[in-house]
Amino acid sequence: EARIAAPELDARLLLCHATGLTHEAYVAALNDAAPDAAARFGASIERRLVGEPVSRIVGIREFYGRSFRIDASTLDPRPDTETLVEAVLGLVDREAPLSILDLGTGSGCILVTLLAELPRASGVGVDVSQGALEQALANADALGVGNRVSFAASDWLEAVEGRFDLVVANPPYLSAADMAALSPEVRGHDPGPALDGGPDGLSAYRRIVPGLRKALHPGGFALFEVGSGQAQAVLRLLAEAGLDV
Ligand code: GLN
Repeated sequence: EARIAAPELDARLLLCHATGLTHEAYVAALNDAAPDAAARFGASIERRLVGEPVSRIVGIREFYGRSFRIDASTLDPRPDTETLVEAVLGLVDREAPLSILDLGTGSGCILVTLLAELPRASGVGVDVSQGALEQALANADALGVGNRVSFAASDWLEAVEGRFDLVVANPPYLSAADMAALSPEVRGHDPGPALDGGPDGLSAYRRIVPGLRKALHPGGFALFEVGSGQAQAVLRLLAEAGLDV
């Protein structure tokens, strides 16, 4: 009735969340559910009916095969961003002791995934949101890389010191027109500053790029997610800043 795209799947996932069961265990233990499961399930369904995404209701999103906690202060990690992770993994020597800087780390999904995949790498994640930094740290600890990462408050590169082998970022890149056309599920639940890239969507790149040379070791790489149609403009900004593109 609410015109939700996958109502049966969402209902099943929310029921699993409410009962604390995996999908398999749910099927096996349907007749033995926790006493308050029906109430929790009902409450979750009410939230889904008014447009809240399942990942927000359960507070968890799968990213590159791992579970990340998310909350109101973090962007809900998108599968698109796994492309950035794959690009890094295709570029580097997996056994090298790389240093990685993640700008606007949010839930920490990019940096924590890279550290989990690159056993000798270490990293720094920065964000302007204190809530995001707390989530990122919790995710790093839960996924076993807490000893190779630190998180700090910084507005892009402003408070970053030192140089890194790799800089990665999935900055906000939606233009004003994109922002105006957002679906209610995104507009109502992802943090605005994690999405809003200013009038043409490129404001964050303009802030980041001028400081990039100083943040990279000679021969280091920077990899960014960009919005659809933005690649040439971002490459131009990088070239203007004297970086090889
Ligand atoms: N780095 C985080 C992610 O990719 C947050 C990005 C953002 O908030 N724009 O999910």
